[in-house]
Amino acid sequence: MGSKTPRGERLSIALIGRRNVGKSSLINALTGQEIAIVDDHPGTTTDPVAKPFELLPFGPVTFYDTAGIDDIGGVGEKRVRASLKILWRSDIALLVTDSKGLGPDEKNIIGQLEKTGIPFLILFNKSDSGSPPSASPELCRKKKYPFVFLSTKNGDGIKEAREKVITLASSLAAEERPLIRDILRPGETVLLITPIDPGAPKGRLILPQVQVLRDILDGDALAFTAKETDINRALNTLKEPPSLVITDSQVIGLVDKHVPESIPLTTFSTAFARYKGELAVLTEGARLLDTLKDGDSLLIAEACSHHVQCDDIGRVKIPRWLKDYTGKELNLTIAAGHDFPDDLEKFSLVIHCGGCMLTATEMKRRMRQCLARGVPVTNYGVAISKMHGVLDRIVRPFGL
Ligand code: SF4
Repeated sequence: MGSKTPRGERLSIALIGRRNVGKSSLINALTGQEIAIVDDHPGTTTDPVAKPFELLPFGPVTFYDTAGIDDIGGVGEKRVRASLKILWRSDIALLVTDSKGLGPDEKNIIGQLEKTGIPFLILFNKSDSGSPPSASPELCRKKKYPFVFLSTKNGDGIKEAREKVITLASSLAAEERPLIRDILRPGETVLLITPIDPGAPKGRLILPQVQVLRDILDGDALAFTAKETDINRALNTLKEPPSLVITDSQVIGLVDKHVPESIPLTTFSTAFARYKGELAVLTEGARLLDTLKDGDSLLIAEACSHHVQCDDIGRVKIPRWLKDYTGKELNLTIAAGHDFPDDLEKFSLVIHCGGCMLTATEMKRRMRQCLARGVPVTNYGVAISKMHGVLDRIVRPFGL
């Protein structure tokens, strides 16, 4: 894949650290190219800059060069916020420091990275001009933080740093699990319920449905597809009950009524919630719908900022179901795009879209970002199932 690889398929690697620790030089050293502007004056990088690169033998990544986390003044604080937003969206963080070692700025970032679960590597740059206090590498050894001493000036440690970045990237890629086939046996039949209503795209199924179908076939199982108006006919046509029914969340109430309790039932969204995030966390978030009070604020978050298929779900259907289910006067905010609002903490719950355009690591990261800031999170499909009284049933196939 070249530099045209879609953003969602590239691993994001953010370089973060104080001003003038050599983040831009480090990008150039790691890539062997002059792709970042280097200057000895502190604060040369003012806004985050994306550098797509083919990190062989791993594959396509984007390095993000960020402004210093110790930047000062009104504008400086804005730059720090922009750097942190990039950090929370990255798959891997490279925490760069110099001979000052791990001070309060670095320890604060490490604490946040641990909370959000973003894997990181600590790079002690400028080893040519002095060593950091021994307490810094000692802390790394004690806490098992990976670290490298290096110098972008004489090249010491660059090869080792590059190899460690590739190892981290490869372990993240290996983490991705099958979508559904791991709970199926070869030869089993799955019934897929896909409504074809006016909101459905012309002439095709939507991406999550196609991906589930492909995963079933990859698992050597059989897939049988019907509209929600044909559930009974589909069930009667099959000689034996299907091993699993997977339905679009929007018709879960209807499908739940027609599919006997003895047949496991779930939704496309639930399958994706497990694949892309932590289903247990999202389930827990959905259960909190029962605890909402008048005046609570909820964030409905969509990953895409352009007009999307799920527009109507987030803006019309979920608000209506929330009102009917909770009976409370809730303050709903709808946010679309990469970033959550800065005042995320004010929300009692985040209801996130299914994230069909996001990688699994990106979706997990968004959830962890909520949890790190003390805000429970669920997603559209899991919340819809909760509001239709079938949450326990649709998570059961996944052992919850
Ligand atoms: S990523 Fe989210 S907002 Fe974008 S199309 Fe998928 S579900 Fe909709």
